[in-house]
Amino acid sequence: KIRIGVLALQGAFSEHIILLNTLPQVSEAVAVRNAEELAQVDALVIPGGESTTMALIAERSGFWPDLENFVRTRPTWGTCAGMILLSEKITSGGTLKGDQKLLGGLGISIRRNAFGSQKESFEAGLHIEGLEDAERLFSGVFIRAPVMDEILEPENVQVVAKLERDYGKTPKGTIVAVKKGHLLGTAFHPELTRDNRVHLYFVKMAQDWIAQNLN
Ligand code: GLN
Repeated sequence: KIRIGVLALQGAFSEHIILLNTLPQVSEAVAVRNAEELAQVDALVIPGGESTTMALIAERSGFWPDLENFVRTRPTWGTCAGMILLSEKITSGGTLKGDQKLLGGLGISIRRNAFGSQKESFEAGLHIEGLEDAERLFSGVFIRAPVMDEILEPENVQVVAKLERDYGKTPKGTIVAVKKGHLLGTAFHPELTRDNRVHLYFVKMAQDWIAQNLN
C-alpha cells in the first residue's frame, strides 16, 4: 500500500484527497503543506489552481527546494496548474513580468490558458492510453487549462492523451496528458469526476516505480 500526499498550498486539493482515499491501494492520502509532511509520503499530487500563486507560496515559506528534490526521484502527478509546475518552460500564456518559477522534470513546454476566453471551461471525451477499460471515454474537465506545446525529450516522454477534435482554436491532436518515468501530467481535472481511473493509473505507476527504483 502507498501513502500519497496532495500539495495543499492552494487550489483543488481536497477533491484529490477524497478520491484517493477511496482506492484500496492507498493506505492514506493526506494534505502536504511543508517539508515535514512531504517527507512522510511515497508519492505526490500537485493539484490544479493557479501555478504562479502555488510557486510563490512555496518559495516564500522556503518549501520550494524540498519540492524540487522530491519531484526529481519520487512519483509525482501534476494536474492542470500542477502540470505547469512540472514542465520545463512556458512558451505562451504566462506572465509577462519575467520567468515563472517551475519545478521541471516532465520534458515538455507548456502553453498556459490555451483555450483562452473562448472556452473557459468545458468537458472533452478522451481516450487515455493505459487506463483500465481504455476503450471507454474519460471525461476530461478543462478549466482555464494549459496544453503541451512541445515535447522536448521525445525519447523519454510518452504521450498518453490528445484532444480528439478541435476546441476553438486548439486543434485536434493537441497533447493533454504525458508520462515521463515517475512523472505524470494531465491538463484536465480527473478529481472533479466520479471516474477514478486516472487516479488508479497514477497509483499503479507510482507503486511500480517505487518497487523498481527506490527499494
Ligand atoms: N490557468 C491556471 C494556471 O495557469 C491553471 C488552471 C487550473 O489549474 N485549472 O496556473
